[in-house]
Amino acid sequence: MKKTPLLILGSTGSIGRQTLEVVQAHPDRFEVLGLSACGQMDRLREQIQAFHPRVVAIGTSVDAKRLQKEFPQLTVFSGEDALCQLAAWSPPKTETTARVVVVMALAGAIGIEPVFHAMAAGHDIALATKEVLVVAGALIQKQAKLYGVRILPIDSEHSAIAQCLGGHDLSTVKRLILTASGGPFRDWPREKLQSVTVDAALKHPNWSMGKKITIDSATMMNKGLEVIEAHWLFALPASQIEVVIHPQSIVHSMVEFVDGAVIAQLGTPDMKLPIQYALNGQHRWAVPWPTLDFRKKHRLDFEPVDTRRFPCLALAYSALHTGGSMPLVLNAANEVAVSLFLEQKMTFLDIPRLVEKVMNEHTPVPVDSLSIIRELDLWAREEAQRHMVVA
Ligand code: MG
Repeated sequence: MKKTPLLILGSTGSIGRQTLEVVQAHPDRFEVLGLSACGQMDRLREQIQAFHPRVVAIGTSVDAKRLQKEFPQLTVFSGEDALCQLAAWSPPKTETTARVVVVMALAGAIGIEPVFHAMAAGHDIALATKEVLVVAGALIQKQAKLYGVRILPIDSEHSAIAQCLGGHDLSTVKRLILTASGGPFRDWPREKLQSVTVDAALKHPNWSMGKKITIDSATMMNKGLEVIEAHWLFALPASQIEVVIHPQSIVHSMVEFVDGAVIAQLGTPDMKLPIQYALNGQHRWAVPWPTLDFRKKHRLDFEPVDTRRFPCLALAYSALHTGGSMPLVLNAANEVAVSLFLEQKMTFLDIPRLVEKVMNEHTPVPVDSLSIIRELDLWAREEAQRHMVVA
């Protein structure tokens, strides 16, 4: 069997490192072609030594020069186009390899342009960066069809849904049920949410993840973005996508079929399974890490979401209903709001307030080109900064 060649964008982040753990568990099945990092040079250096990639993308030209000196055989990209160059990189035509899979594990909308480059190069996309579909879902699905490439979800909920669907026709689906842990403030009353600190928001009860997604989990914007992501991955309307709180994070999501049967996917809260399931083209491979142990007692609780305490979820549903560029604006405003909260420039409850303000300023248009995306993304970010000043 030919090894699957991988280009990993964001290899020093949480998903990137877990992707490399999956590769390590199956050294005869994967080959790491390329890695990318922004800043974390020591970690990137270790990864280069362990996985021998052929290409690397790094943020600054100073870092690029240092790497090139240390690893003369390596092709090093740096600067503005580095991520797009890496995403589109292919082995020479004389080598017959299996289809390249690009692991998109950058944080936020920065992943969009590289995904377009990767698709144009004929690479499949294993997608962890949900913002890519939130912002450009219609365009991405159109391009994926055009180039005949697959978008394989790494997000655990969407991986679970793909597993639950198991090839069933979408017309037999009544609804998708995304589970949400509810984050660290699941039981907190609204008054108490006003005084949430950055440290408290960065402590997720079940999952260990990057900063942006951890804050998004605490506000439940993460689940809102996942509803939009599910819409684009599975071609179902918002009315058929529901969210339920499930504090244990053991059921990763469910599908209810028209006959009332609900199929769920269960597992430990460990991203390595959804990563592996995406990388291998959705097949079942034995794994060396611990799996669910039913000799221990487990509880599975399910409860409805209180959108009054977590308005970000309602904002995301509203953006999806409105359609066009509204999800793009929701996402850009949220990215700014989260960084302002992390910089302690505003409170936890200001995050949904700021997002809503920017959404109210926006008249949606169709998102049909990369230039529209760039223009509106910039507009929404500036608008968020401006409202913050007067907030
Ligand atoms: Mg998720």
